[in-house]
Amino acid sequence: MTAGHPAAEATRERFAQLEANLAVVRRSIADACDKAGRDPAEVTLVAVTKTFPESDVRALAKLGVTDVGENRESELKRKAADIEVTWHFVGQLQSNKARSVARYADVVHSVDRDSLVVALAKARAGADTPLRCLIQVALSDDAGRPQRGGVVPEGVPALAAAIGGADGLELGGVMAVAPLGADPARAFAELADVAAALRAEHPGATWVSAGMSGDLEAAVGCGATHVRIGRALLGTRPRAG
Ligand SMILES: *Cc1c(COP(=O)(O)O)cnc(C)c1O
Repeated sequence: MTAGHPAAEATRERFAQLEANLAVVRRSIADACDKAGRDPAEVTLVAVTKTFPESDVRALAKLGVTDVGENRESELKRKAADIEVTWHFVGQLQSNKARSVARYADVVHSVDRDSLVVALAKARAGADTPLRCLIQVALSDDAGRPQRGGVVPEGVPALAAAIGGADGLELGGVMAVAPLGADPARAFAELADVAAALRAEHPGATWVSAGMSGDLEAAVGCGATHVRIGRALLGTRPRAG
């Protein structure tokens, strides 16, 4: 927080609402873990705060949320400059925004091509801590067509090698969004296979970022280590994002 620049705080009502929503989300994660025979400590909640004000991020941090996600470079930059949490970039990333994202994010979930690896590495080389990179995998829909955004499973090994060999970057694992209209349990099972194959080659790449407000349970059932939750925590977004 910047001195002489008092940060807006969430109203008492908003704070109470976030507290209640957080309890519900934590309960859902615990229930999904129960069903899957997993320990809730294995699942990190990433609060996706896109379009919501910094006061909400501060309130969530006060409530114990340690990991926060954004999907736009401008919003990440504005919020991360002021608030100390682990910052995740979860959106599509253009190479010309890579420098800024590499500066403000701790983790990038959406690495999907070599040119982005090169741009992120160039921006982060020499930093104290490496930028943790997840490979975004394009899962196929129920008709077998690969989704837009992400690299197809066959492309994962080459991209993993590029990240693993890049100065300033660290290979963390995989990320995916369930295709629209697809059965999320089937899609996330495909991701689990890709994640297992990746771990066989890169034992440190243990993260599986999967699950949003609508498909958290299916994701946890398929081994998600990070769930990215927006609406269930913060409410309906004020504008498309
Ligand atoms: C917005 C967003 C989320 C959160 O989605 P909700 O449905 O609001 O929980 C998760 N992942 C990505 C990549 C997003 O853009």
